[in-house]
Amino acid sequence: MPDNMQKSDEEWRKELTPEQYRILREKGTEAPGTGEYYHSKEKGVFLCGACGQELFSSDAKYESGSGWPSFWEPVAGDRVETVIDESHDMKRVEATCSRCGSHLGHVFEDGPEDKSGRRFCINSASLKLRKKE
Ligand code: FE
Repeated sequence: MPDNMQKSDEEWRKELTPEQYRILREKGTEAPGTGEYYHSKEKGVFLCGACGQELFSSDAKYESGSGWPSFWEPVAGDRVETVIDESHDMKRVEATCSRCGSHLGHVFEDGPEDKSGRRFCINSASLKLRKKE
């Protein structure tokens, strides 16, 4: 299992931009279609925008039409934790980074059927692409 990383709110505020902080640490959502990686087709690994843990390969990224970067699976099952989220009068599955607990997005069951059938719907602001050299 990845090492757990705990930081104080103050530390996160110093390290993250206000937009990153709002999304990663306050479970915010970026406006659909606006994120840096929504249309990205670059090859590499998407890291947690807060702690840098490897989360998703560009090879598992696809165009879902949702407005947010979408992946059918994380690089390993232990990288993303799922939590039932009943906010906003909806019952959804929240995805968090298993290392630092930051909010990434949500998981839905309408992903590509020939893959996992799952859609990890992730905020661009929760990710940082480490491009393949
Ligand atoms: Fe993290």
